[in-house]
Amino acid sequence: MHTKTFPNTIAELAAGLRAGEFTSVELTQHYLDRIQQLDSQYNSFITVTPELALQQAAAADTRLAAGDAPLLCGIPIAHKDLFCTAGIKTSCGSKMLDNFVPPYSATIVENYQRDGAVMLGKLNMDEFAMGSSNENSFYGPAKNPWDTERVPGGSSGGSAAAVAAQLAVATTASDTGGSIRQPASLCGLTGIKPTYGRASRYGMVAFASSLDQAGVITRSAEDAAIMLNTLASYDPKDSTSIDREVPDYTTDLGDDLNGLKIGVPKEYFEAGLDADTEKAVRNALAEYEKLGAELVEITLPHTHLAVPAYYVIAPAEASANLSRFDGVRYGYRCEDPQDLMDLYTRSRAEGFGQEVKQRIMVGAYALSAGYYDAYYKKAQQVRRLIKKDFVDAFEKVDVIMGPTCPNPAFKLGEKTADPVAMYLEDIYTISTNLAGLPGMSIPAGFSSGLPVGLQITGNYFDEAHMLNIAHRFQQVTDWHKQMPAEVQS
Ligand code: GLN
Repeated sequence: MHTKTFPNTIAELAAGLRAGEFTSVELTQHYLDRIQQLDSQYNSFITVTPELALQQAAAADTRLAAGDAPLLCGIPIAHKDLFCTAGIKTSCGSKMLDNFVPPYSATIVENYQRDGAVMLGKLNMDEFAMGSSNENSFYGPAKNPWDTERVPGGSSGGSAAAVAAQLAVATTASDTGGSIRQPASLCGLTGIKPTYGRASRYGMVAFASSLDQAGVITRSAEDAAIMLNTLASYDPKDSTSIDREVPDYTTDLGDDLNGLKIGVPKEYFEAGLDADTEKAVRNALAEYEKLGAELVEITLPHTHLAVPAYYVIAPAEASANLSRFDGVRYGYRCEDPQDLMDLYTRSRAEGFGQEVKQRIMVGAYALSAGYYDAYYKKAQQVRRLIKKDFVDAFEKVDVIMGPTCPNPAFKLGEKTADPVAMYLEDIYTISTNLAGLPGMSIPAGFSSGLPVGLQITGNYFDEAHMLNIAHRFQQVTDWHKQMPAEVQS
């Protein structure tokens, strides 16, 4: 291991690079060494790209020396393996794409390149982003650095484990029903999923297109703001991307919270919530009162319908999106197909894992003639009601807070036999995606020695305000600075 010690936030590293305390090449080599020596314990990377990383770091050093480089210049990050990277395998955690080397990069990958961030590699995830534990990955589960017998959450398990284990300074991730906030919560990190349409989905492998949104996992709200400045953009190549000015998310971080109205939904504190998780969240809310905020009890009456509606809508969209994997155009192809039908069916049967196949079947069923009205249409009507719950709530309050997850990180294998228990992991996060709202999780304490996350849900395009609210909390608490004992270097 390198003898030099480095700070671990973007904000501190950017200052150190500018003060000449270290170079990006040194910093990048430090992270590459850590990945090589430690990632066998965490399995957070699917692909590591050392040569490219060092080339990018050298270019960043030149740019830093010239002055006027963006804040992210020279900072080692990594991307979830569902963002296409030109010339570098993009597997989406699936055997189906184990041989897929995209000819182009996702817009968000290009944005980070433009701003000089160094890419260390591609991160582990549940296959096609379907899961809450990273156990559905073709590459084996990523492990939680707080306890390697436990899951890091999913589907962005690699994105969270890598930051928690200090194998990347920050990571990109995606959130369809909770896949940024839940792993951030389980690994003691800050994660934000912006408003649907705020970040480009071009070059991000699609799971459920009306819900998928790119975001980031970091050590602090300040770092999340810096990462979001680069992630967020209008992209004419994505028809759902919104043409709206991107603010500087770091500008309002220090604003005071006097008079802030925090909605606390009563449905988020009912049966099923772990007692110590509730205690940590209530303490965090009390901390916000000390910062000048007012707590207002609210109701989101259709919360109990979010998981059932999601598990019709998301599989329906997935069944359509995943029809492109046919063994013909790209991805896995079975050996010796007898005819075209055999090529299709065996390529899909052999290339997709169990959970993905289950969801394709559920989705195709929900969309089929005769069942469409009963399932898909009904789920969309419920979605509308869920959205309305939030619209009504935001007439009374500025943000909504509660637990991110009902419990801290669970053991590997604990929920694999019970899909419903696994699906309930996202009970507090899924409504946000159904409504298209921005959501965030920040560290707020511990339960049985494992991190607990506080969820912050904001109004549409209110990310700057949410980051300000998170940052103020992090100025007066140090939950986000806690690190697993094994990881401290
Ligand atoms: N855990 C949820 C699922 O399995 C959400 C996944 C996600 O946000 N990508 O679908």
